[in-house]
Amino acid sequence: MSEFAAYNFKGQKALVRVDFNVPLNDKFEITDDTRMRAAIPTIKKILADGGIVILMSHFGRPKDGPEEKYSLKHLVRHLYDLLMAEKFSKENIPVLFANDCIGEQAYLTASMMRPGEVLLLENLRFHKEEEKGDEKFAEKLSKLGDVWVNDAFGTAHRAHASTAVIAKFFPADKKMFGLLMESEVASAEKVLHKAEKPFVAIIGGAKVSDKILIIENLLERATDIIIGGGMAYTFMKAKGGQIGNSLCEEERLDTALEILKKAEEKKVCIHLPSDSIIADKFATDAETSVAPSNHIPDGWMGLDIGANACDQFSNVIKNSKTILWNGPMGVFEMPKFQHGTKTIAIAIAEATQDGAFSLVGGGDSVAAVNQFGFTDKVSYVSTGGGAMLEYFEGKILPGIAAVNS
Ligand code: AMP
Repeated sequence: MSEFAAYNFKGQKALVRVDFNVPLNDKFEITDDTRMRAAIPTIKKILADGGIVILMSHFGRPKDGPEEKYSLKHLVRHLYDLLMAEKFSKENIPVLFANDCIGEQAYLTASMMRPGEVLLLENLRFHKEEEKGDEKFAEKLSKLGDVWVNDAFGTAHRAHASTAVIAKFFPADKKMFGLLMESEVASAEKVLHKAEKPFVAIIGGAKVSDKILIIENLLERATDIIIGGGMAYTFMKAKGGQIGNSLCEEERLDTALEILKKAEEKKVCIHLPSDSIIADKFATDAETSVAPSNHIPDGWMGLDIGANACDQFSNVIKNSKTILWNGPMGVFEMPKFQHGTKTIAIAIAEATQDGAFSLVGGGDSVAAVNQFGFTDKVSYVSTGGGAMLEYFEGKILPGIAAVNS
C-alpha cells in the first residue's frame, strides 16, 4: 500500500472508487451533495500532481441493468461545478462521461485522456457482476487505470468488484486509500484503539437488535455507554419497568439483561434515560407529557428523553475526553421530540470545544447534526453509515483489507 499524500500522480491514470450515491429529486437534481464534496480533495491532489482522474461509483439500487434514474450522467454538471468552484486551477477542468464503466467507449476515452482531465464512468451496478464481486469484471475495470485509489468509505464494508476484488490486479505500490478514506480510518482508529479516557459512547435509534454488536465491542473499550432513543425501552422493560406502548423488542429482553450484566462485570457505566417525553400517539399532533422512563402509563409511548435525562447525559458527555455518537435520542424528525437529540448535540459540541475528540457516525445522528447545524462543532462526521457501524462492531472491512493486502 502506498501513502496517498506522498504519491506523485504525474502522468498516471488514477482509477478512483468514490461513493457518489447522492439523493436526487424527481427532476434529477441533487438534494444533498455531501458525498461528492467529500471526494473533491482526493481528485484535486491527483489533478494538481498532473495526473488523470477516472471516477467509478455505484448509484442507487438498479434491479436489472441500466435505468435512466440511476445514471451517473445526472451528476456530471455538478461535479464540474464543484471542481471549478474549488479554484485550485485557473484552467478549465474537463469532466467527461462514459456511458458504460467497461467496454470500448470507456477504454477509448480513458486512453485519450490528458493530465488534468476527469472521467466519470457510468454506474457500476448496471453490471450485476459488481455486487457479486466478480473477478473478471474487476479485472476489466482495473485495465482503466495505472493506480487504484479507494476513497469510498461508505461501501468499504462490501466485498464488491470495485471496492475490494479489484485490489489483486494492482501491485502493492499502486493501491492506496484516498484522503477521505484515510481520514475516516484515522478517526475511527482514534476512537477504537487510541481513545483518551473517559470515553463515552452514545447509542440511540430504534432497535436494540441493530446495535447489539457495536455495544458488545464498546463494552471492551468505553468508560460509559449512554443508551437513548427507542432502544432504551427494551432495556427498561428488561429491568422490570413499565413502558406503556413504547417501542420494545420482546425477543431482545434477555440480550438487554446480558449487556447490563457484562457492563457491570467490566465496570462500564450504562446510562439509561431517567425520564421520557411521552406521547399518546406516534404523530406530530400527539398529546405529550413527562414520565419516569420505567413508569410509562398504558396508551402512552416514550418518544424522546426527558429534561432530567438530558442533564444526566450532558454531564457524562461534558466530562468525557472521547465521544462516539451513533443514533438519535428520540423521534427527532418531529419537532416535539427533538429536544433530547439537540441537547446531546450541544453537549458534544461543548465537550469538543473543551478539547474532547468527538466522532459522529451512522445515518440518523449525522442527519441530526446537519439538521441542527453542528457539523463544524464536532471533531469528525463520518460519511459511512453501515461501514462505520461495522467498523465499530470490530469487523474487518473488505475495502480496507484489500488496500492493505
Ligand atoms: P436507527 O436507524 O436504528 O438509528 O433509528 C433511527 C430512528 O429511530 C429515527 O428515525 C428515530 O425517529 C427513531 N426513534 C428514536 N427514538 C425513538 C423512540 N423513542 N420511539 C420510536 N422511534 C424512535
